[in-house]
Amino acid sequence: MKIYISADIEGATGVVHGDQTGGSSTDYMRARKFMTGDVNAAIEGALKAGADEVWVKDAHANARNILLEELNEAAYLISGWDVKSTMVQGIDDSFHALILIGYHSMAGTENGILSHTFSGVVKSLSINGVQMGEPELSSLIAGYYGVPVVFIAGDQTAVKELTSFVGDIPHAITKYGMWRDSGRTIHPSVTGKAITDGVSEALSNLDKFKPFQVEKPVNMSLRLTSTKMADLISLVPGVEKTDIDRVDYQTEDVLKMTQMFRIMLALARNAG
Ligand SMILES: [Zn+2]
Repeated sequence: MKIYISADIEGATGVVHGDQTGGSSTDYMRARKFMTGDVNAAIEGALKAGADEVWVKDAHANARNILLEELNEAAYLISGWDVKSTMVQGIDDSFHALILIGYHSMAGTENGILSHTFSGVVKSLSINGVQMGEPELSSLIAGYYGVPVVFIAGDQTAVKELTSFVGDIPHAITKYGMWRDSGRTIHPSVTGKAITDGVSEALSNLDKFKPFQVEKPVNMSLRLTSTKMADLISLVPGVEKTDIDRVDYQTEDVLKMTQMFRIMLALARNAG
C-alpha cells in the first residue's frame, strides 16, 4: 500500500496565528515541530494499517518546514516546489490514498483559523459554480489519478468544509477556531493519537472511499482581491473577465485547470 500525505501548517496542532507560520520567531520553530509531530502521527497510522511506502509533501510557503531529522524514517519527504506548485506534487495512480494534515479552510470562512486559498490574492475560487479551497483542490488532483482522499486533520472548519464535499471521512480536529487568529487548542499527544487512530482506521477500510471528482468540462471562476489582477489575468488567451474582480476559465480536466490557476496566481502577484 502506497500512501501520500500532504501537509500544511495553518491547520496543525497549536497553530493559531500568522507569526507561527514563517519568519525567524521561536513561535515558528515550535510550529514546525507541531507540524512534524502531526505528520509523524499520520505516518504511524499508515504503517499500523500496513502501508509499505509513504510520501510526505511539505506544502506550506517555501515547502521547507517539516524537520526531516525528526520525521519518521519510514517516509520520503518532498521538500520545495516544482513549477506547478501543487500541494500534491508527484501524486499519480500508483498511490492508494491521500491524507491531508494541517489543512485549513478556504478564504473567508468564519472562525477558520488562518483561512485562505493559496494566497492573499484570492478572494474566492469556484469550480463548476461551487466555492472550494485547498483541501478540495488537493483532493481533486488526487481524484484525477483515481486516488481517494481518506483523512483530514485541521481545525473544525477545515474538517467541516472537506466532509461537506466528500462525506464524513475519518478526521481529527486539531483545534477549534474561535476567530481567524484564535482558537481552543489541544495538546499534541491528544491530537497525535486522534490522527494515528483515524489514519489507521481509514486505511484499514480503503474500499469505502471514492476519488473526489467533478463534472467535465471544468469551469473555474476566480475572484481576486484587486481589480488590476483581474485585468492582467484576462489577457491570457481563453480567460474571460466576467466581473470587475473575477476571471473565468473553462477547460477539459482538473489538471489543466490547476495549471491555469497556477498561472493566474503568478500574474496576480505581478499586477502591481
Ligand atoms: Zn495553505
